[in-house]
Amino acid sequence: MVKVVKFGGSSLASAEQFAKVGDIIRADKNRRFVIPSAPGKRNSKDTKVTDMLYACYALAEADEDFRVPLMKIKDRYDSIINGLKLNLSLEDEFKVITENFKAKAGADYAASRGEYLNGIIMANYLGYEFIDAAEVIFFEEEGAFDAEKTHKVLSKRLEKMENAVVPGFYGSNPDGSIRTFSRGGSDITGSIVAKACNASMYENWTDVSGCLVADPRIIKNPKPIKIITYRELRELSYMGASVLHEDAVFPVRKAGIPINIRNTNDPEADGTLIVDSTCQKADYTITGIAGKKGFVAVSIDKDQMNQEVGFCRRALQAFEEHGISIEHMPSGIDTMTVFVHQEEFEGKEQQVMSSLRRLVDPDFTELEADLALIAVVGRGMKSQRGTAGRIFSALAHANINIRMIDQGSSELNIIIGVSNDDFETAIKAIYDIFVETRL
Ligand code: ASP
Repeated sequence: MVKVVKFGGSSLASAEQFAKVGDIIRADKNRRFVIPSAPGKRNSKDTKVTDMLYACYALAEADEDFRVPLMKIKDRYDSIINGLKLNLSLEDEFKVITENFKAKAGADYAASRGEYLNGIIMANYLGYEFIDAAEVIFFEEEGAFDAEKTHKVLSKRLEKMENAVVPGFYGSNPDGSIRTFSRGGSDITGSIVAKACNASMYENWTDVSGCLVADPRIIKNPKPIKIITYRELRELSYMGASVLHEDAVFPVRKAGIPINIRNTNDPEADGTLIVDSTCQKADYTITGIAGKKGFVAVSIDKDQMNQEVGFCRRALQAFEEHGISIEHMPSGIDTMTVFVHQEEFEGKEQQVMSSLRRLVDPDFTELEADLALIAVVGRGMKSQRGTAGRIFSALAHANINIRMIDQGSSELNIIIGVSNDDFETAIKAIYDIFVETRL
């Protein structure tokens, strides 16, 4: 049995955190492959090493003196090394980094050093072998991740190894230069490594005990989600609930490897298990609630529009022409409403409306701003009678006017539109009815 374990930045922000991580890894000999992030924040006012590296490199690129900020970064690593009493010096590594900064090796190279150096420390601390991710994770010419080449090289390399540390977040371009994934990308590296060694579990260790039923900034101490499917997670993360990089699910999902989100500061907690499918019932009818504010509803009315072939396509073209992405599109017989992001739409409002006029010649259009969308997600909803009814009566009791309802055909989620001002109250009302009172 092989487990791949990825640790996030806050789990590796200091020597104390490293020691917790060491205990976790040593507690299970199956935890053979380790993916570290760069050191994160030690407290809310602290700066992540990745951000320090970006800032430091910006100076180098502007031909300004970057020695002091680079020494500050070195201090962060030295305090970990000294705190763990390791016999290790990063002196030579920092000489190379200085030279490469002067030679303008790129912002991706700079940022990747956060994980690279933390990987060296981690390998030394655990007595595991260190694999530079540049040798095993590859990108294509245009920047897309090269899954095929990576899998071939990485699986071969890991095959012969008992244990190894592979730093997260980066790999190499065909010309050998360094490229990173987008921010938070160490999650993706962990998933790729899990697939390459055919792991039975991908453990993703962070600073929360897994996914929560609702946002803790809105609901005090929300219940944790014990088990969630990839599809449910995708719906929730799209609506803003983030525990994992969005692209991290794809490699393991294809390989049928579950992900377990765990808390480094509470290793006894089971965390959340993310699986392809499960017959285990969720604790509540719903699995989770998430939402986002800041939408505009564009309503388009035209008599007998349902008989006009291509009406919807042309209406959507008006948005496409101006690069506006569409969030939701509930429709009636002679009306359709298009939900778009307010921020994206505001500057282009009049251009879109005039394109609409030209393309579909509507009888009537209306714009409504400051709306929020809430997704109530749950695999259990389709087999339960009255779920929608309960949501609506909870919202009615809380005096909330529902502006839009959209149930996906998979019955995995119900999307509700409310005004921005009602957003928090609506989430509380839905949480209460399903979780607190378990109605
Ligand atoms: N260190 C990188 C970041 O801050 C990648 C990661 O932590 O996953 O985004």
